[in-house]
Amino acid sequence: MSEQVRVRFAPSPTGYLHVGGARTALYNWLFARHHGGTFLLRIEDTDVGRSTEESVEAITESLQWLGLDWDESPYRQAHRLSLYQEHAERLLETGKAYRCVCTPEELEERRRAALSAGRSPRYDGRCREVQPEPGKSWALRLRVGDAGVTVVEDLIHGKVRFDNAELDDFILVRSDGVPTYNFAVVVDDADMQVTHVIRGDDHLSNTPKQIQVYHALEFPLPRFAHIPMILGPDRTRLSKRHGATSVLAYRELGYLPEAMVNYLVRLGWSHGDQEIFRREELIRYFDITRVGDTPAIFDQAKFDWLNAHYLREADPKRLADLLVSFYRQAGISPEEIEAKAVRWSSLGRTETFGEAVIHTFRERAKTLGELARASHFLFRVPVDYDVQAVEKHLRPEALRHLRELHDRLKSIRSFDAPTLEKFYRDFVAEKGLKLGDVAQPTRVALTGRTVSPPVFLVMELAGREICLERLGTALDRLHA
Ligand code: GLU
Repeated sequence: MSEQVRVRFAPSPTGYLHVGGARTALYNWLFARHHGGTFLLRIEDTDVGRSTEESVEAITESLQWLGLDWDESPYRQAHRLSLYQEHAERLLETGKAYRCVCTPEELEERRRAALSAGRSPRYDGRCREVQPEPGKSWALRLRVGDAGVTVVEDLIHGKVRFDNAELDDFILVRSDGVPTYNFAVVVDDADMQVTHVIRGDDHLSNTPKQIQVYHALEFPLPRFAHIPMILGPDRTRLSKRHGATSVLAYRELGYLPEAMVNYLVRLGWSHGDQEIFRREELIRYFDITRVGDTPAIFDQAKFDWLNAHYLREADPKRLADLLVSFYRQAGISPEEIEAKAVRWSSLGRTETFGEAVIHTFRERAKTLGELARASHFLFRVPVDYDVQAVEKHLRPEALRHLRELHDRLKSIRSFDAPTLEKFYRDFVAEKGLKLGDVAQPTRVALTGRTVSPPVFLVMELAGREICLERLGTALDRLHA
């Protein structure tokens, strides 16, 4: 591409960053990075009633977490009102826009009348030639001709035609001086020299209006790419009803940003059959014209699969650091976590406690939240026993063996997995049992369930004290 690519992500800070918004930001970012261009962040906060600083923070934090860094300082529309004002005056002077004095009540009444007469409620242009009396409040409307069509040349949808007769003289600046979205967005995109407007196709119907504004202001048109929506499995627009939809909610559930980026990019774009992409590959291959023109369906199972993949790939130290906050959420105190780490490091192992937990548990977890819950029992916490597992594996005979094991475990030399395994094997050989006869009851007594990583690794990680305590409690509770 010969021109200098400039794109922008332009969220309205009226809530958290939704996965759909994140995908729009990602496509803009990838497009900019692919072409060595510029990615801008513009906060569209002219709606003072609905915009909040909290949302601005949630949005920027989400983008940072996903690694979508922007160039130049973020723009805020609320700080640019004089620029919109200047362009509004220019349109008024050239007669391309006019002052409309119709009150909201009058407009509403006419709208209702049109609807009940089966007409579409368009503004009838009655103020086109009116000179408002001084002091009367007015809104600024664009004078739009009804002849012909406006064609949006879209990089994803191709040529999309809109009949100009469908457009009316829409409002550019409200009577309180605040510009409308369709006006501010054009002034900004032109002023920021945005070359490609990449956004959700819920805005496609706004584009013919914006093209009218570009023409009126005599600005060159950017190129447009409208990305199809993301739908839930029931093919309605993805919303809270379908589960988590905010980027930060996924972070809190224990998804990794690289998994989210990889998942979102594939919702609408593909590169052959490749499923897993490193970031450099995405930058190299991303092509906006290859985005499909039909909606994508959000598939939680696929996202989980990708997250599990990245959990297995990620640096254990990084995951161990992240895991701490998930343990905290699961109710384990910082002191308990710290004590565990210190005790572990005194054993002279090569890995830290957190890294060892990651190695032992990550094969079975889809998220860090799940991993924290699955390894919760390694700490001094009440264990949630699965009733069926207890009935099946903690029968009187097994409990008798566990009692004996409990006593002998107090004095084994070292509490590491190989020593424990040898100890258990010697025990079953002596008693004429099978390993499962005692290993499975031990697992149930320690973890509350029948499935866990290899039991001797689990015992090593839990440590002697917790193992003895937990076995002791299980035995007491079952009166063995
Ligand atoms: N503020 C608009 C939104 O959040 C931006 C649309 C656009 O990119 O033009 O939907």
